[in-house]
Parts: sequence; structure tokens; C-alpha cells
Amino acid sequence: MMLTGKRALVTGASRGIGASIAKALAAEGADVAITYEKSAERAAEVVRAIEAHGRRAVAIQADSADVTAVQASVERTVAKLGGLDILVNNAGILRVAELKDISLEDIDAILNVNVRAPIVASKAALAHLTKGGRIITIGSFFADRVPASVLSVYAGSKSALVAFTKGLARELGPKEITVNLVQPGSIDTDMNPTNGPFAGTLQQITALGRYGAVEDIANAVAFLASAKAQYITGSALTVDGGAIA
Ligand code: NDP
Repeated sequence: MMLTGKRALVTGASRGIGASIAKALAAEGADVAITYEKSAERAAEVVRAIEAHGRRAVAIQADSADVTAVQASVERTVAKLGGLDILVNNAGILRVAELKDISLEDIDAILNVNVRAPIVASKAALAHLTKGGRIITIGSFFADRVPASVLSVYAGSKSALVAFTKGLARELGPKEITVNLVQPGSIDTDMNPTNGPFAGTLQQITALGRYGAVEDIANAVAFLASAKAQYITGSALTVDGGAIA
């Protein structure tokens, strides 16, 4: 097991990619706190799955759009688990519309959840992370390729995480804390289901000719969280079936 005794916080982990990451970290021996916005029952299921690995778990209701809630979720994790070694900024939202049509409300929501929350959570984690600590954020392959006209704001939010990751890697390198980005391609979740309106196009642009599974992203995150990835920092690991190839 690669993460025995580590303490992790995974944001937005009641469903989809985040839930899979939380379970993967627990399977590798980590205690895991998760946040969610609305899905209390789904979050409770994830807690039970983590506990089934013999690990400690806690589910924290925290809207990533609310900076106070984001900060409080980090402090609550530390209080419950006795510290923090791994922060996974996973919570994200997708709103699709061309710029001429998208509302200011949707622009704010995308920027607050996808960009401001990872920055604020990382800032709150600084006081707790020590040597060997990890910050891993979930971006998107849309930072490198934007295959539709309705994705500019969302893709822009994910692109911001690339430079943020590089800069923070510079800041935390002297402390032996690594900071990385995982950029998923099309992964079958509620956000991007294989029967959704864009699924045909998204599948077609991959080299492998298919969607990925949540475990494909969780495996990459578990590796980056481990000591085996100790010399990887400031990087973006794209896990997209070759969509940007
Ligand atoms: P889902 O929509 O399937 O799940 C989103 C998760 O995030 C849920 O647990 C949800 O909680 C939580 N969440 C959403 N909004 C908030 C909020 N305001 N505050 C707290 N938690 C919130 O998404 P995915 O699993 O598909 O996506 C996970 C990440 O991966 C996102 O950052 C997304 O942008 C990124 N991504 C996904 C891709 C894909 O193809 N699926 C491709 C590229 C990137 P609740 O259940 O309570 O609503």
C-alpha cells in the first residue's frame, strides 16, 4: 500500500471522479475526508466504502463557491483526521454556452468553484502540509484542446489551473511538497455521461475510441499522491485516451 497513514481531503467526492479518488486513496491506506454540496446520502455511501477499507472517513457539506466553507472544510479535516498530507481539489462544475449567451451568474459560478476554490483550499492547506505533502488538482484536457464553441468559460477556468499549479510548485518545492494537475479527458460521470449530447464527438476525438472510467483518473491521482511520484511537481498529467494527441 502506497499511502499508509496519510490523511487526505478530496473535494466534491460524493459522486463521479471524486468518489473514485476517495476510495482509491483509502484502498492505498489513507484516511479520507470528503466534501459535497448536496448529495448527503451519496456522500455517506462513500464514507462507508472508505471505512470498509479500515480507514477513517468524514463527509463535510461545503459549497466550493463559498470561501468560508472551503476554508472550514480544510480545518475540519485536520481536526477529524489529526492533520493533512494530501489535498485533492476535485469539485468542479460544467456550464455550457457560447460567450454571447452565458449569464454572469454562470461565469461567476464556474470561476468560483473551478478556480477560486482550489486556490483557497490550497492556501488553507499550507499551514498543515509538511514534507512529502501533496496538492493535486483536477483540471481538464480542455485546457489543451477546446473541441466546441460552448466551452470557452469552462475551458478557461481549467486552463487557469495549469499556471497556478506551476507557480505553487515553485513556492512549495523547497518544503518537498509537490503540486500537480491531473487533466481528465472524457470520463463517464453525471457531468459527462456516455449518453450525453456531446458523447459522440468526444468519443470520436480520442485515440482509443472510447470514454474513460472514473478509476482511470483515480489511479493517476493515487500515483501522484504516493512517494513514487516524489520528483514530479508542477506537472499536468493528461489522462484522456489520446484526445489531445
Ligand atoms: P460530477 O458532476 O459527476 O460530480 C461532481 C462532484 O462535485 C459531486 O460530488 C458534487 O457534489 C461535487 N460538487 C459540485 N459542485 C460543488 C460545489 N459547489 N461544492 C462542493 N462540491 C461540489 O463531476 P465529475 O466527477 O465528472 O467531475 C469531477 C472533476 O473532474 C471536475 O473538476 C470536472 O470539471 C473534472 N473533469 C471531468 C471530466 C469528465 O469527463 N467527467 C472531464 C474533465 C474534467 P454533489 O453530489 O453534492 O452535487
